[in-house]
Amino acid sequence: MKKIQMVDLQSQYAKIKDIVDPSIQEVMDSATFINGPKVHEFQKNLEDYLGVKHVIPCANGTDALQIAMMGLGLKPGDEVITADFTFAATVEVIALLQLTPVLVDVDPVTFNIDVEAIKKAITPKTKAIVPVHLFGLPANMDAIMDLAKEHNLFVIEDNAQGIGAEYTHRDGSKTKTGAIGHAASTSFFPSKNLGCYGDGGAIFTNDDDLAHTIRGIVNHGMYERYHHDVVGVNSRLDSIQAAVLNAKLPHLDTYNAARRRTARKYNEAFKNHKNIIIPTGLTTCEGICDTCDCHVFHQYTLNLVDVDRDALVAHLQEKNIPCGVYYPIPLHRQKAYKDERYNEADFKVTNALVTSVISLPMHTELDDEQITFITDTVLNFINL
Ligand SMILES: *Cc1c(COP(=O)(O)O)cnc(C)c1O
Repeated sequence: MKKIQMVDLQSQYAKIKDIVDPSIQEVMDSATFINGPKVHEFQKNLEDYLGVKHVIPCANGTDALQIAMMGLGLKPGDEVITADFTFAATVEVIALLQLTPVLVDVDPVTFNIDVEAIKKAITPKTKAIVPVHLFGLPANMDAIMDLAKEHNLFVIEDNAQGIGAEYTHRDGSKTKTGAIGHAASTSFFPSKNLGCYGDGGAIFTNDDDLAHTIRGIVNHGMYERYHHDVVGVNSRLDSIQAAVLNAKLPHLDTYNAARRRTARKYNEAFKNHKNIIIPTGLTTCEGICDTCDCHVFHQYTLNLVDVDRDALVAHLQEKNIPCGVYYPIPLHRQKAYKDERYNEADFKVTNALVTSVISLPMHTELDDEQITFITDTVLNFINL
């Protein structure tokens, strides 16, 4: 059996080497390393793929979030509501811009930001909501957009884990995540669903004015050469990364389908087990739409019930099966983001999830033998 990895980028690269290598070579031959044609080509291709008017490439997903907030004109003291259960980048940029992070609890089934908790957290100072499509499952966007409209708030989707996912609106219509809010951010970190071979990111928006503002911000606040109208940053996607992304974008749907296929096999093995809660997103669709694109499984995360998680992690490691705990500490309890404003009783779900979740290997190259070995090993331990 091939060695099991959390993410297997080598095997994936081997299959697309013939497309990726010449694309990178072109950049080198033309020496168009910054803002070359590959970047524009990728931008257009991604706009078409997502059905969004503007994609503004930048250096990484964290910058993308920061730049989106700068572009929306958020000011120190403005309150920004986001999920307590996510990667720290989301809250980090809020704090960095001297905005006030307002962390709220998540839903126990979807692990995504809890709309009722957002409602409770809205004050006259609230200016924006940042839902994260955690692990690849779209957040409850219709309800969030309704709330935003009612209270005149911006919505910035953190789509770093959700690229390619489709959100189904109440009326049954579908929109790709990242094309719903006022702005969205994504990351092309190598292990993300659409990853490059270094760092990369992008901001999305359907708003022409905001797109214009942001195009200046990413380039030192310049709208005309050497005229600096606003305080900007230097945040670029380099052409070599764009070349990789251009070669990989046509495979994104196939990649996400491979992730869903693996998730389906995992679900099949773990469903109806009293100690395991399988992720939602596929289960709700099973039998209804087998090709449903709602969850793109950036991570496949189980919620354990009465299982010694540390012992399971050790057992898996012993069998050379890597696994991860995303995320082990709620953001509201992190040293950098602790605040007297927070009340433990408001974070019941996150406080529980950090002790019970475990993420299994999830990538585009897992084969049946590996998947069966993983599910058997987990079940053998839990059924002991
Ligand atoms: C990866 C990630 C980011 C940050 O992306 P980088 O490109 O690593 O800066 C932000 N938010 C979430 C939810 C992520 O998973």
